[in-house]
Amino acid sequence: MTNLILLGPPGAGKGTQARLLAEGRGLTQLSTGDMLREARASGSPMGRKVAEVMDRGDLVTDEIVIGLIEERLAASTGPGFIFDGFPRTLAQADALGALLDRMGQTLDAVIEMRVDDEALVARITARSTCATCGEVYNDLTKPIPADGRCVRCGGTEFSRRADDNESSLRTRLLAYYKQTSPLIGYYHAKGKLASVDGLGEIGAVASAIAGVLDKG
Ligand code: ADP
Ligand code: ZN
Repeated sequence: MTNLILLGPPGAGKGTQARLLAEGRGLTQLSTGDMLREARASGSPMGRKVAEVMDRGDLVTDEIVIGLIEERLAASTGPGFIFDGFPRTLAQADALGALLDRMGQTLDAVIEMRVDDEALVARITARSTCATCGEVYNDLTKPIPADGRCVRCGGTEFSRRADDNESSLRTRLLAYYKQTSPLIGYYHAKGKLASVDGLGEIGAVASAIAGVLDKG
């Protein structure tokens, strides 16, 4: 089993790397952001409840996201999990530890992806997603192909996230520094933390992460 957390500010590239790891190693990607966006798209009562909070850039309650993760962990089998965008608070980190314990599993690594704030703003305001398969594009570093077709699924519809604007991004960054960055110290103290430079090209970041995981 390999269970790992990708930790970093919005726009650090957690989702992109999580997808690569999921494909390359057969791990299950658990993205609370994706789960919450699915809940919104489905129009469920919970989805309607979280929509405004997400658009503003604030964190959804611990209770909701812990519930989502608990459901997915119970339903999944496989060689391990990549937690992407979870945990984001100390309470979530404690809850994850307890859930893994209960399943007789351990957390193997927490990989902090470091990117400076200016790069984050530039990345996020240039970001779009394939409406069909969720492949992430970036006008600067990974543009949508000239023929307008998704490299992964051939889809032709792309969308921008409602919270990928400057005002929400400022709130998301603040939430990261206030509520999530304490997890760096938390996992360092547990001996689980490794940091990689998230500023390089997608392949370079992937190699750095592989280096951490394959070191054992
Ligand atoms: P990003 O990392 O780019 O900010 P995500 O897709 O991970 O984006 O999350 C989008 C939004 O979903 C967050 O701004 C927040 O409102 C909500 N969210 C996602 N994961 C969590 C979580 N673990 N705890 C609380 N809120 C969350
Ligand atoms: Zn696609």
